[in-house]
Amino acid sequence: MTPTIVANWKMQLGVAASVDSATKLRSTLERDPVGATVVVCPSFLAIPYVLDTLRGSDIQLGAQDVFWTDKGAYTGEVSPTNLREVGVEYVIIGHSERRKLGESDTNVGRKTLAAAAYGLNPIICLGETADERATGQHENVVRRQLEGMFLSAPPPSQGMVIHLAYEPMWAIGTGEAADPETAESIRQCIHRSLIDRYPADLVERSFRILYGGSVDPSNVADYVGPDKFDGALVGGASLDPATLVPLIRACSSTNTK
Ligand code: PEP
Repeated sequence: MTPTIVANWKMQLGVAASVDSATKLRSTLERDPVGATVVVCPSFLAIPYVLDTLRGSDIQLGAQDVFWTDKGAYTGEVSPTNLREVGVEYVIIGHSERRKLGESDTNVGRKTLAAAAYGLNPIICLGETADERATGQHENVVRRQLEGMFLSAPPPSQGMVIHLAYEPMWAIGTGEAADPETAESIRQCIHRSLIDRYPADLVERSFRILYGGSVDPSNVADYVGPDKFDGALVGGASLDPATLVPLIRACSSTNTK
């Protein structure tokens, strides 16, 4: 099993800049391939253009959000079937930047259910605030967020992979990554919750646990590797292939399973 690196471009790159970054990423990885699954998540408007740029390559496409039903009077929302129609395979759900704008555990659960129903592989973000960390609530918060998802989502179907990204909110975009031991204890907590719920072979086959929060080429190997996280969700360091490619290489030499 190879590590998964998810590049979350947020609203940081325009359409032309997204195509430019994808073009450089593709040519660099084709010249010198890596042993990693790479998923790029541009803004919605850039998706069709980036898809054209990456067509026929090994790089996968993800969206940064999805709505929980496929059709109807929902102004401004993006349908899971529309995403599938254009070739998107992954979707980030419940990113803390959306939770800060009011995304609830319930809606994260609904979106997870929709992603599963329409064949999108969900990348579900979990993680505590700085206050919750300071008061020692981090494990409880992550368990509560997981429960929100479990209550509404069916067990993963054949071929589907659910990524659970542990992203402490205070570590996102701050340059202050969680210390690897602390992150590892949450990874184990997430793994235990999965094992309590599903058969071990299903967990092995259908779930990946990622770390996110100020990951860069110099620290990614502290988190990703055998008996560590299965990959990383990367924001700032994913925008420029000159940083992203060394980051991918730093962890792709070590298989995670
Ligand atoms: C993210 O956007 O999910 C993220 C982890 O950002 P950064 O790598 O910039 O901390």
